[in-house]
Amino acid sequence: MAEHSKAYSIFRYKCPHCHEGEFFVDRNPYHLSTVGDVLERCPVCERRYTPEPGFYYGGMYVAYALAVATCTTIYVATIVLWPSASTGATTALVLGGLIMAAPWLYAISKTLWANIFMGYKGVAPTEKERLQALERAAQREPVIRS
Ligand SMILES: [Zn+2]
Repeated sequence: MAEHSKAYSIFRYKCPHCHEGEFFVDRNPYHLSTVGDVLERCPVCERRYTPEPGFYYGGMYVAYALAVATCTTIYVATIVLWPSASTGATTALVLGGLIMAAPWLYAISKTLWANIFMGYKGVAPTEKERLQALERAAQREPVIRS
Protein backbone atom coordinates (compact mmCIF):
# COMPACT_ATOMS: atom_id res chain seq x y z
CA MET A 1 0.00 0.00 0.00
CA ALA A 2 1.53 3.32 -1.06
CA GLU A 3 2.27 5.45 2.00
CA HIS A 4 0.53 8.65 0.90
CA SER A 5 -2.51 7.03 -0.71
CA LYS A 6 -5.98 7.36 0.76
CA ALA A 7 -6.13 3.55 1.05
CA TYR A 8 -3.13 3.70 3.42
CA SER A 9 -4.91 6.21 5.67
CA ILE A 10 -8.21 4.29 5.52
CA PHE A 11 -6.97 0.75 6.16
CA ARG A 12 -4.12 1.60 8.55
CA TYR A 13 -6.34 4.00 10.59
CA LYS A 14 -3.96 6.94 10.06
CA CYS A 15 -4.58 10.70 10.09
CA PRO A 16 -6.18 11.75 6.76
CA HIS A 17 -4.06 14.95 6.77
CA CYS A 18 -0.53 13.63 7.41
CA HIS A 19 -0.92 9.79 7.23
CA GLU A 20 1.33 9.46 10.31
CA GLY A 21 -0.71 10.05 13.48
CA GLU A 22 -3.25 7.58 14.83
CA PHE A 23 -6.92 8.21 14.04
CA PHE A 24 -8.66 6.18 16.75
CA VAL A 25 -8.29 6.06 20.52
CA ASP A 26 -7.70 2.29 20.16
CA ARG A 27 -6.34 0.72 16.96
CA ASN A 28 -8.16 -2.61 17.51
CA PRO A 29 -11.82 -2.29 16.36
CA TYR A 30 -12.67 -5.50 18.23
CA HIS A 31 -12.14 -3.73 21.59
CA LEU A 32 -15.85 -3.00 21.66
CA SER A 33 -15.80 -0.39 24.46
CA THR A 34 -13.72 2.01 22.33
CA VAL A 35 -14.66 0.98 18.78
CA GLY A 36 -15.00 4.03 16.54
CA ASP A 37 -13.79 6.56 19.13
CA VAL A 38 -11.97 9.16 17.07
CA LEU A 39 -9.24 11.29 18.67
CA GLU A 40 -9.95 15.03 18.77
CA ARG A 41 -6.69 15.96 17.04
CA CYS A 42 -3.85 14.19 15.26
CA PRO A 43 -1.01 13.54 17.73
CA VAL A 44 1.55 14.28 14.98
CA CYS A 45 0.28 17.24 12.91
CA GLU A 46 -2.31 18.47 15.48
CA ARG A 47 -5.02 19.07 12.86
CA ARG A 48 -8.60 18.46 13.99
CA TYR A 49 -10.39 15.24 12.99
CA THR A 50 -13.92 16.60 13.47
CA PRO A 51 -14.48 19.69 11.28
CA GLU A 52 -18.03 20.19 12.63
CA PRO A 53 -20.31 18.60 15.28
CA GLY A 54 -21.97 15.42 14.02
CA PHE A 55 -19.49 15.08 11.14
CA TYR A 56 -19.24 11.30 11.52
CA TYR A 57 -23.02 10.72 11.26
CA GLY A 58 -22.36 10.70 7.51
CA GLY A 59 -20.15 7.68 8.05
CA MET A 60 -23.34 5.69 8.71
CA TYR A 61 -24.10 5.81 4.97
CA VAL A 62 -20.64 4.40 4.28
CA ALA A 63 -21.14 1.70 6.94
CA TYR A 64 -24.50 0.78 5.35
CA ALA A 65 -22.93 0.49 1.89
CA LEU A 66 -20.07 -1.63 3.28
CA ALA A 67 -22.57 -3.90 5.10
CA VAL A 68 -24.60 -4.43 1.91
CA ALA A 69 -21.40 -5.20 -0.02
CA THR A 70 -20.31 -7.68 2.68
CA CYS A 71 -23.70 -9.45 2.72
CA THR A 72 -23.76 -9.65 -1.09
CA THR A 73 -20.22 -11.02 -1.22
CA ILE A 74 -20.93 -13.72 1.39
CA TYR A 75 -24.24 -14.63 -0.28
CA VAL A 76 -22.69 -14.98 -3.75
CA ALA A 77 -19.69 -16.89 -2.34
CA THR A 78 -22.05 -19.30 -0.56
CA ILE A 79 -24.10 -19.92 -3.71
CA VAL A 80 -20.95 -20.52 -5.81
CA LEU A 81 -18.93 -22.57 -3.30
CA TRP A 82 -21.79 -24.48 -1.63
CA PRO A 83 -24.66 -24.80 -4.16
CA SER A 84 -26.61 -27.33 -2.05
CA ALA A 85 -26.75 -25.07 1.05
CA SER A 86 -30.21 -24.60 2.55
CA THR A 87 -31.77 -21.16 2.90
CA GLY A 88 -31.22 -21.34 6.66
CA ALA A 89 -27.52 -22.14 6.28
CA THR A 90 -27.05 -19.34 3.75
CA THR A 91 -28.85 -16.88 6.04
CA ALA A 92 -26.74 -17.99 9.03
CA LEU A 93 -23.52 -17.54 7.04
CA VAL A 94 -24.54 -14.06 5.82
CA LEU A 95 -25.64 -12.87 9.29
CA GLY A 96 -22.64 -14.49 11.02
CA GLY A 97 -20.21 -12.91 8.56
CA LEU A 98 -21.85 -9.52 8.94
CA ILE A 99 -21.74 -9.70 12.76
CA MET A 100 -18.08 -10.79 12.68
CA ALA A 101 -17.13 -7.97 10.29
CA ALA A 102 -19.28 -5.24 11.90
CA PRO A 103 -16.63 -3.65 14.21
CA TRP A 104 -14.07 -3.53 11.39
CA LEU A 105 -16.66 -2.11 8.93
CA TYR A 106 -17.61 0.55 11.51
CA ALA A 107 -13.97 1.64 11.91
CA ILE A 108 -13.34 1.61 8.16
CA SER A 109 -16.52 3.63 7.54
CA LYS A 110 -15.18 6.44 9.75
CA THR A 111 -11.71 6.58 8.19
CA LEU A 112 -13.28 6.36 4.72
CA TRP A 113 -15.73 9.19 5.49
CA ALA A 114 -12.90 11.36 6.88
CA ASN A 115 -10.80 10.69 3.77
CA ILE A 116 -13.64 11.78 1.48
CA PHE A 117 -13.53 15.29 3.01
CA MET A 118 -9.90 15.60 4.15
CA GLY A 119 -6.86 15.34 1.88
CA TYR A 120 -3.17 14.72 2.39
CA LYS A 121 -1.30 17.89 3.44
CA GLY A 122 1.84 16.54 5.09
CA VAL A 123 2.96 17.08 8.68
CA ALA A 124 4.08 20.73 8.41
CA PRO A 125 1.37 23.42 8.17
CA THR A 126 0.58 24.44 4.58
CA GLU A 127 1.00 28.06 3.40
CA LYS A 128 -2.79 28.53 3.62
CA GLU A 129 -2.88 27.18 7.19
CA ARG A 130 0.01 29.50 8.18
CA LEU A 131 -1.86 32.52 6.77
CA GLN A 132 -5.09 31.50 8.55
CA ALA A 133 -3.18 31.14 11.84
CA LEU A 134 -1.68 34.63 11.36
CA GLU A 135 -5.16 36.09 10.64
CA ARG A 136 -6.59 34.44 13.77
CA ALA A 137 -3.70 35.77 15.85
CA ALA A 138 -4.21 39.27 14.43
CA GLN A 139 -7.93 39.17 15.32
CA ARG A 140 -7.07 38.22 18.89
CA GLU A 141 -4.65 41.16 19.31
CA PRO A 142 -6.17 43.87 21.52
CA VAL A 143 -6.98 47.06 19.64
CA ILE A 144 -5.13 50.03 21.15
CA ARG A 145 -7.24 53.19 21.05
CA SER A 146 -5.75 56.62 21.57
ZN1 LIG B 1 -1.89 14.21 11.21
